[in-house]
Amino acid sequence: MITLLSGGTGTPKLLRGVRHHTDDQKINVVVNTAEDVWISGGHLSPDIDTVMYLFAGVLNTETWWGIAGYTFLTHKALLDLGADEYIAIGDRDRAVQIARGDLMNKGKTLTEATVILCRNMGIKAGVLPMTNSPVATMVRSSGEYIHFQEYWVRCRGSIPVDAVKRVPELPPPATEDAIKAITEADAVIIGPSNPVTSILPILECQGVREALREQYVIAISPFIGEAPFSGPAGELMKAKGFSPSSLGTWELYRDFLDLFVQDERDTVNVPGATRLDTMMTGEEKSRELAEGIFGLIEEHNG
Ligand code: GDP
Repeated sequence: MITLLSGGTGTPKLLRGVRHHTDDQKINVVVNTAEDVWISGGHLSPDIDTVMYLFAGVLNTETWWGIAGYTFLTHKALLDLGADEYIAIGDRDRAVQIARGDLMNKGKTLTEATVILCRNMGIKAGVLPMTNSPVATMVRSSGEYIHFQEYWVRCRGSIPVDAVKRVPELPPPATEDAIKAITEADAVIIGPSNPVTSILPILECQGVREALREQYVIAISPFIGEAPFSGPAGELMKAKGFSPSSLGTWELYRDFLDLFVQDERDTVNVPGATRLDTMMTGEEKSRELAEGIFGLIEEHNG
């Protein structure tokens, strides 16, 4: 069994390659839920959705969110009615969010709701929310904290950010399934996801860092030089007081990390890191990177 810690872009790109090497039944993915929001009556869990859609073979891999080939009829109708739906939700995507919200309103945990959705989408991998407790990443801009989705989607990430925090401040407990997936894995892979918004929320869940210290853990950097491959990771690392680079990423993980992988073109030098081509510009590149990582794990396992 292999376990990955994931957000909604970098690690799913790697997962697409991992699936060429391992059956879905042997993959567990512990997924960030700190970007979840209730919107228009449905429960949006963007990173869980991306991972589920990837395994179900319906993910839009142009954008790495949403179901491919969908329409936005309900979204447009809601805007015409004056609804403040600032995230454009595709029609089939919305069905997932309504189904999840309905299950949760009837008392199911996020983990239980995800199991049901995965079963009904024919998914064989374990898609495991990091926690069942509500938790949100908030960013501060001009003295005011707003939800990460408001910052990234409504404001298109165009406003300055000088602080990031999680609400509530007391870290939520990780789910038992998430901890078990970490402790029972042959190895844990932290994909090249945004350290601040995708990976730290998972690491902060009670029990996760302790479990990782007992495991063989490989992390892949989402940075090349002083910039991420995509998205707001650089800005958010600076707001957290870390260097927006592979070095800053490594510092966040080093207490439990066994091996750090950075891109072969990265000008920032991390002590002891392994270099691979981590630029996943297509499925074949994802497959090659996954092959390199599995090679490193096999080397370690003898
Ligand atoms: P989010 O939930 O949509 O923000 O997605 P993630 O947190 O999972 O991933 C975002 C991170 O993926 C960004 O910081 C990017 O730098 C990184 N990323 C995207 N594509 C690649 C790639 O091809 N290679 C590497 N190494 N990182 C990537």
